[in-house]
Formats: sequence, structure tokens, C-alpha cells
Amino acid sequence: MRSIYATILLSVMMAVSLMAQAVSSGNKLTLRQQSIAQIAFYTGKGDLENLKPALASGLDNGMAVNEIREVLIHAYAYCGFPRSLRALQTFIAVLDKRKAQGIEDVTGKDASPVNDSRSRYERGRDILAEISGVPADAPKPAYAEFAPVIEQFLKEHLFADLFERDVLTYAERELATVSVIAALGESVEPMLHSHISICRKLGMTKEQLDQVLFMAKNNAAACQAKDVFPKGDKLPESPNFNGEAWLKAFVTKADSMDCTAGNVTFAAGVRNSWHSHPGGQILLCTSGEGRYQERGKPVQALHPGDVVKIAPNVVHWHGATPDSEFTHIAIGPQQAKGGAVWLKPVTDEEYNDK
Ligand code: MN
Repeated sequence: MRSIYATILLSVMMAVSLMAQAVSSGNKLTLRQQSIAQIAFYTGKGDLENLKPALASGLDNGMAVNEIREVLIHAYAYCGFPRSLRALQTFIAVLDKRKAQGIEDVTGKDASPVNDSRSRYERGRDILAEISGVPADAPKPAYAEFAPVIEQFLKEHLFADLFERDVLTYAERELATVSVIAALGESVEPMLHSHISICRKLGMTKEQLDQVLFMAKNNAAACQAKDVFPKGDKLPESPNFNGEAWLKAFVTKADSMDCTAGNVTFAAGVRNSWHSHPGGQILLCTSGEGRYQERGKPVQALHPGDVVKIAPNVVHWHGATPDSEFTHIAIGPQQAKGGAVWLKPVTDEEYNDK
């Protein structure tokens, strides 16, 4: 008898543990939700360079062309026609490139016709009441009393015309909205909070929304660094770098200033080989997390704002940490003494010896 109880108890415990696992995996954003969030963020930010890979990854994650197109259309209500139209143009370019590569993307369905005889204002008002939980006859906010026409536009156009297009669910529209608004910055925080609470009402978990905001924060940091100095061109493959790196040269030998200056970006995990500069080098760290080491000394962590002064002929290497892209401005004084002297690649043991 006791063994039967023990078996039942064990089964119940296993079932509870399986349920817990199901719940915890449900707390993370799906790949589709992550794509919607990333695409909406970069559309809102107007960062077309980062939008391209986000669009391609959305298609790779199984989103149909019309669904992604709808995220870009939806975004205009929050970040304006100029950003939405630029995002749509960028999407056309991404689709053309994929087509040329022989990738066949799924078009997906278009919006169903709306058969509702009520006015657009009434329909939008009721949709907003449904998703926000605020009754349609609740007192109007001050902005609506002051500018009644914007309240009319909001209900008719945003919550009727856009929300009634059934290419995306209400929850997906609200997820995109939170991401666009997060991209707009601190002055729109009240709107961010109200849309986060609508997302919660539509079934998203706190963990999922924390993930959206975490992604937005990381994206914003990357955009900010990029806004200051351009990333430039990808360096051709070379034995002196173990992966992808970019260079935007600002001052070159052609300027005859006996000095070079340029913006160098290392992809995560990428570093250059051991080397030295006959005239020395100055590194001004601008974004991400990096590493630097002089021969015989410990590896040093680099953060934005750090300045590294490398004396002439000191053997060293620099690069990104395994998880972060890293950018520094490199200044090369006394170029007349000669260019960099390249030595052996940095081994994984050396790179990780912190
Ligand atoms: Mn160097």
C-alpha cells in the first residue's frame, strides 16, 4: 500500500515539475515575438543598418512577408510616416536581396475586409476599452478635452483602422508598440507604462516584458555608440584579426599629419594578433566591453571612456570580450617611424587568461 502511495506521490511530483518547466519556457519570448520586438525597435529608432538583419531574422524565424510589413505599417502610428516609410523601403531591399539569393519567402495573408456598420470612432473606442480594460465611458484625459480631434484620430485611425487589420493579433501589435516606444526614449515613459499594462492584460508575462525592455536597452546602447562615429567598412580577412572587424579611417597618411586616427569595431570574441607600433598607439574606448594585454602583464578589461596609452614598440593585443561587440578610436602617432609590426595570433588560453 505504502509503495502505491509513494508511486502516486512520485507521479504527482513529476507532473508538477513538468508543468513548472512548461510555465518557465512560456515565460520567455518566442522567436517570433523577439523578431517583432527587434524589428519594431529599429524602425522606431530609424536605425536602418541594424533593421536589415532584424528583418532577415524575422523571415528566418518563420514570419510571413505581410506580417513583417504589418509591423512596419503599425509602427508609423508611434514613430511617424518618415521612419515607417524608410523601414518599408529597407524591407523591400532585404526581400530583393534574398530573392536574388534564391530564398523564397512566404507572402502570407492580407487583412480581411471589415464588416461592421458602426462608425470607426465607436469601433476604435470599443477595441481600446477591450484591450486596456478602461471602460469606454470613463472620464477623458486632459489632452482629449484640450484637443478633441486627436482623441478622435486615436480611436478612428489607430484603434479602428490599424487594429482591425487582422494580420497581427492585438497582443503582437502591443508588443511592437512597447518596442517602438522604448526606442523613442524617456520623454514617452507614461505611454510605455500604459502599453506594458495592456500587454499584461493581453496575456504577456512580466518576464517576457522585462526581456523586451532588456533587448531595447542593449539595442539603444549599440545605436548610441554608432550614432557618434560610423562603423565604416568590414576589414578584409587577415591573419592579424581572428574574425570580423570594421574600420572607419578619419586621418590617414594622405593627410600628412604624421598621425592616423580611425574607429575600430571588433565583433564579439574578436581580437587582433600580438603586435607593436614603432610610434606607439592611443586607444579611446567608446562602446561595448573589450580586453587589452601587454606582453608579460595580465589581461585588462576595457570599458567605454577608458584611455589606453601604448608606448612605442610595446608588444600587445586588443579586442572584444566573448559576449560584446567592442569599439575604440585608435590613434597612431609618429607614423614616420613605421606601421604596425604583426606577430603571432593570440591563443584562446591567452585571450581567456583574466
Ligand atoms: Mn595596437
